[in-house]
This record gives sequence, structure tokens and C-alpha cells, in this order.
Amino acid sequence: MVNHPHSNGPEGAHGDHGAPHDHAHQPHGDHVCWGGGGCGHGHAHRLEVRSLRVRYREVLALEDVSFATECGRSLALIGPNGAGKSTLLKSLAGLLTLDAGSILWRGQPLTGKSHEIAYLPQRGDVDWNFPLTVRALVEMGRYPNLGWWRKFSGHDADIVLRALTAMDLLDLQDRQISALSGGQQQRAFIARALAQEAHVLLLDEPFTGLDQPAQENLSNLFRDLTREGRLLIASHHDLRTVENHFDDVLLLRRRQIAFGPVAESFTKANLAQTYEATATA
Ligand code: ADP
Repeated sequence: MVNHPHSNGPEGAHGDHGAPHDHAHQPHGDHVCWGGGGCGHGHAHRLEVRSLRVRYREVLALEDVSFATECGRSLALIGPNGAGKSTLLKSLAGLLTLDAGSILWRGQPLTGKSHEIAYLPQRGDVDWNFPLTVRALVEMGRYPNLGWWRKFSGHDADIVLRALTAMDLLDLQDRQISALSGGQQQRAFIARALAQEAHVLLLDEPFTGLDQPAQENLSNLFRDLTREGRLLIASHHDLRTVENHFDDVLLLRRRQIAFGPVAESFTKANLAQTYEATATA
């Protein structure tokens, strides 16, 4: 990862958080559901996956995946390469056609994209040389809410400002995205998701390529985002840090091996089942 020489300190001010739970950090007093909603007010926003099966033509990528989670939690998708983690994230994002099963968001079948669900691709899949400022990237988060008939309003500008502020990107808003460090790039994409007023953030390998301080900052940020009531679901490779970064795990090897709180499901036996057959592949 390259830290830009003019970067705003080591990955920005999220590094100035103390111990993860040392204070009830509510950045700027904003609730997750900036556009209204109800997370944290007794009506948990629930995401439920029932008997999901997804295929790419002849390749069966996922089958028998069934779990339910809700706002305020963070979930790690764990499994070897090709296990179906990205496929599951894309399915939850409404980007793929399901072969069987269903995905329910707030009790309703998810059909196509919803502005309440934000998908953040792997950083390696993004063309960081595309000429775009941080602010323009975050403004893109408003497009799904605008519709073709409505102009970018003061309300939209206000939400973009709040998202930039929450992710500590105000000083960097005019910078090209190509000139951001890895941690800043992650925060810029999360800011776009906040501007979108997303309740659910789907992140593909968010920790990959970040140095240790940036990983800690992102982990603290995850805690803030879930405490505010958002649901985070991320594919994750580093088995040593699962416990630190996430509440729940889903172990996957095309089929679901286990799902539940890290303390209960992230066991040696489940990991062996998840990785054993591919260890020599
Ligand atoms: P992971 O994210 O866990 O590495 P993926 O979801 O990317 O796994 O892939 C799951 C399976 O689906 C793999 O066998 C992969 O080769 C296959 N696959 C993924 N994307 C495509 C695609 N666009 N076309 C065909 N097969 C795909």
C-alpha cells in the first residue's frame, strides 16, 4: 500500500480512537438510518437468506446457504478461494440472479438493487486512476436516491457533507481518489455508502492490503458503524483477526459449513471442514 505524502496523518483521525469500547462513540450524533428507518428503535432490520443457490452457467457457486442477521451486527464470510464469498456478497447486493432460494430484507424479497444496501467492491477491482475527486465519489452515493427528475439539492449536499465528515475526509474532499492511501480509499467508499443512506454494507476483502494501523482504524470504524445500527457483511481472509473485527462468522465452501457468533462457530472443527479438502488443491 502506498501512503500518499500529503496524507492526513496515518490513515486519518479514526486512528485517534482509544480502546474500541472506551466511549460510546456516535460520530456527530448521527443515527445510521440517516434517511429515517428504524434501526435501533425496536424494529430490527433483518436480512434473511433462505436456501440460496447461485450458479454461473455450469458452475455451481453456492448452495444450501441459509442464515439470518440484522442491523447492529458484523458478519465475516470465511472460506478458501472459490468458496463463494464474493458470489454471496453480489447476491445480497442484488447483482446476480438467484438459481434457487430467496433473500429477504426487512421481510420483503430482495429483487434487484436497493439503496439501503451498499456494495463495496474489492479495492483491486476499482480503477483508481479514473479521474474522480473524493467528493464526487461520495456524491455518487446520492444518485440512487435522486431519480432522473430531481436535481442535487441542499439536502443532498448536506448528507454528502455529513458522510465526508463522519469518515474524516473533509480535508481530502478535493483530492483525486488515485492519491489516497488504502485506508483512505476504504473510508471514501464507506462515505459513499453513508451518502446512499445504506443500512447494510457489503464489503469484499476490506482489510486486504491495509497495514496494521489502517486495519485497526477500519476495525474501530466497523464498531462505530454497527453500534449506530448498520449491518456489515465482509469477506475476510485473515483468520487471526476474525475475532477482533467481527461479531459473527459464516464459514463457506460452496455450501454453508457454519454460521453464528464467532465464539461459537469459529471453531477448529468447523475451520477444518471449511479448508481441509482444498489444503492440497
Ligand atoms: P470467493 O469469493 O470465495 O473466492 P467466488 O464467489 O469468487 O469465490 O467464486 C465462487 C465460484 O464461482 C468459483 O468456482 C468461481 O470460479 C466461480 N465464479 C465466480 N465468478 C464467476 C463468473 N463470473 N463466471 C463463472 N464462474 C464464476
